[in-house]
Parts: sequence; structure tokens; C-alpha cells
Amino acid sequence: MEQLAALCKRRGFIFPGSELYGGINGFWDYGPLGTELKRNVREAWWEAMVRLRDDVVGLDSAIIMHPRVWEASGHAEGFTDPMVDCRSCRRRFRVDQLYENLGIELEPGSVADMSLKLPADARCPVCGSRELTEPRAFNLMFRTFVGPVEDDSAAAYLRPETAQGIFVQFHNVLSVSRMKIPFGIAQIGKAFRNEINPRNYTFRSREFEQMELEYFIKPGTDEQWHDYWVEERLKWYRGIGLAGDHLHRYVYGKEELAHYASACVDITYDFPFGAQELEGVAARGDYDLRRHQEYSGKSLEYFDAESGRSYIPHVVEPSAGVDRIILALLCEAYREEWVPREAHAGSRPEIRPVEPGTNPPEGLEKRTVMGFSPRVAPIKVAVFPLLKNRPQLVEKSRRIFEELRQHWTAFWDITGAIGRRYRRQDEAGTPFCITVDFQTLDDDTVTVRDRDTMQQERFTVSELPRVLEQKGLP
Ligand code: ATP
Repeated sequence: MEQLAALCKRRGFIFPGSELYGGINGFWDYGPLGTELKRNVREAWWEAMVRLRDDVVGLDSAIIMHPRVWEASGHAEGFTDPMVDCRSCRRRFRVDQLYENLGIELEPGSVADMSLKLPADARCPVCGSRELTEPRAFNLMFRTFVGPVEDDSAAAYLRPETAQGIFVQFHNVLSVSRMKIPFGIAQIGKAFRNEINPRNYTFRSREFEQMELEYFIKPGTDEQWHDYWVEERLKWYRGIGLAGDHLHRYVYGKEELAHYASACVDITYDFPFGAQELEGVAARGDYDLRRHQEYSGKSLEYFDAESGRSYIPHVVEPSAGVDRIILALLCEAYREEWVPREAHAGSRPEIRPVEPGTNPPEGLEKRTVMGFSPRVAPIKVAVFPLLKNRPQLVEKSRRIFEELRQHWTAFWDITGAIGRRYRRQDEAGTPFCITVDFQTLDDDTVTVRDRDTMQQERFTVSELPRVLEQKGLP
């Protein structure tokens, strides 16, 4: 993780938030490459979940909603962690962490139902003091005020999930889109949780982004649609390059389910710090719409023209975190290899796994590569002139770059030795590099270098878009 975080900072994937002022725990900024990566992930999700489907439409709802929304959703009351304060050093901890520190395993569900007492030998994990308060509920929602007066009547919350915006607009979307059940509403947006213990790099942050689908179904079809969405979502993860054996599903046992849910499956990824949730796919029954119907006093029923009956739809919710997917993609992509110092056009360079603790053999050097799938790679293709002091090469490479950037996110780089430029693109995860050399001026061919094999092949300039597409650029 440390090596990855260093690379992310050096190359501009992820920076600590507000670093200039010493940082702020739980907040992260995405640099130029990270921003492109994130855009590609959102785009891939939107394409699969909305653009290529007849039965899903989009929504972009406000971050701040009427405070009653969070009473209806249960977040005002239930969205809490039991916390303990240290009276001596004044730090705050989750009770379950104190158990964890003592090596005591907790029963599933015991954290959620607030039945946790302090463990007998509990000490402050920081200062070691036994002066701890009894566990108290701590709400994870960020509170703010709407308008100039800061009193309880003006209190509002930053949304802790995007889903409630969808439920609250269910009726409006239904009437404008003329959708019939089953159908879904999808949303991508920021969510905020005042996590007690942000950790594992960006994995648990206080500001993050969610991609959520609420798929409304006929009561009784829950199991079938739940299975369907778990499979669809796994397929999607494989499609963006999490194809290896690091992807798993965790099926909730009956005793772990929320009282209204009939099924839940977490899609997990083997991070260096353990297998952790990327996404939860839950069958939530009619809980959300029913609660909003109760709290708003307005009907959220759906009229089924076929049967002539009205009902509150049930819902299946695949809920994913953009930042966690980015982190998984970064972990999956990162690799180090020993490769030849100089590659020769045509020949296939020998690439060897790094033997830790030893120096590379004669003629080889270490390279770091981000092996992103072309689908999500921040830069798809880089274009170089072999030398920057030959105007003909520079101009020609610029023209090729201008043409290719019409199709893909491209990068033009004229500075430094050509080998260094390749290495920089390897670290950025760019699948292809194109070099304009002296032969180009004779026969209008360029080399196309493959990031993974490091092999170079010559193609004429006019066939580049077709060749790159054939090689997998989306
Ligand atoms: P966890 O148990 O890890 O706190 P959760 O089960 O509370 O997560 P959900 O409420 O199901 O998470 O949220 C759906 C998705 O939103 C998660 O699968 C995750 O990808 C993302 N998410 C939730 N909390 C955070 C966070 N603090 N930082 C980054 N992503 C998050």
C-alpha cells in the first residue's frame, strides 16, 4: 500500500486533501490521472446501467435534502456507531475496535443493535488510560444549517448516501419517464459520512462518491432480480479489469440482514489489507418507499395497468463506491518487473518478475507498470517525436497527436530520453505509445509500443485509429 500511495502521489492519481495545510483526515483529492480514471469508471457504470438499457433512467438530486428524509430513511436514528471517549487524552473510538484490539470476536449484528458494553480490560488504544466513558451513540451524518440562523430548526444534513434522492423523486420520475415496472433509477454523486476512523488510504473516507441503482420490481420477484443484479454487477467488474481471482461475493446470513431485507450480497475485493466491500447488492423489499409514504403522507404506490391493482414496489439496490473501485483498480494494476534497459524494434523483450531483495541482472532494470484495462486507463495513447530538436519530427508527432485526441484521451510528450518517456507512460498505465522517428519522414510509418509486452510494431499513420481500436482501445 505504501508503494502504491507513493506512486499515486508522484504520478498524480491521488493527493492527500488540503495537503498544503497539513492535510485533513478522511478527505482525498484526485490529481490529473486520478480524475481521468474516475471519469472512466463513472462512464463505464453509466453506460452499462443506463445508456445501454431500456429500463433505467438517470437522476441527479441535491446533496442537502429535507431533514424529514433522514427520519424516514432511518438515518437520523439508526445511522450510528457506539463510541467511547478517552477522558484522559480526549480521543474517540468505536467500541468494536476496542474489542478488536483485545482480540475478542464479536457476534454479527451486535454492533448494529447497540448492545455493546465496554470490554472488561478496555484501555485507550492511544494513551493506555482506563478512564473511558460508557459507549454512546454517535451519528455519522454531517450536520449543517440552511440559511443564516444556526439553530435546530435550520439544521440539515449532507446526504450519507445518494439512494434517498431516488426514493423521494420516485413518483416524479415515474410520471415523466412513463416507465413500467420493472424499471430502475440510477444516480452518481457525492456522499458524506463522519466516519470515526477513516483508514486504509481512500477506502474509508469522509467524503466519497457513490453509484447507486434502485431497481423497482413487483413484490414476489425479489429473489430473481437480486440474483440477476449480483451477476450483472460481477460481469461489470470483470469488464473494467478486476477479472482476476481477487473478486468475491459475500452472501449475508439471515441473522446478518437488516430486518426489512430479504437478501444481501457484498461484492468484495482482496485489498492488501484484506477482502473488503466494493459494493452491496440488497433486496430491500418496500421498506424505503413505504417509509417515505408514511412520513410524507403522499401515496407512493404504483398502478399496474395489467392487473388493475396498485402496490408499493419492492426494490433491489446495487450500491457501489467509486473511490473503492478506483482503489481496487490501482491495487490490481500495480506491478513491478525487470525489463531490458533498451528495447529494439521488432524483437520481443524479455520481461521477468522482480526477485525481491536482489538487484536486477546485467542489462535489466526495474520498471513499475500500472496495467489498467484500456477501458479505464486514464491516458489511452501517448505520442512522441524521437528527438525534440528535430522540427520535422516534432511537427509530425503533433499532427498525429491532434488527430488521435479526437478519438481518445491522448498525451504528447517531447522531453527527455525516449526510454524515460516510455517509463513515465508505464507508470501512468497508458496502453500504447507512438513514436515518430526518421523512418517516418521516408515512409509515413510510426512505431506503436505495447505497454505490457513492450513490443514495438510499425504501422502507417493513416491506419493508426483502426489499429488502436483493434488492439482494444474503446
Ligand atoms: P462499510 O460497512 O464498509 O462502512 P457500508 O456497508 O456502510 O460500508 P453502504 O452503506 O452499503 O456501505 O454503502 C454502499 C457503498 O458505498 C459501499 O459499498 C462503499 O463502496 C461505499 N462507501 C460507503 N462508505 C464509504 C466510505 N466511508 N468511504 C468510501 N466509500 C464508502
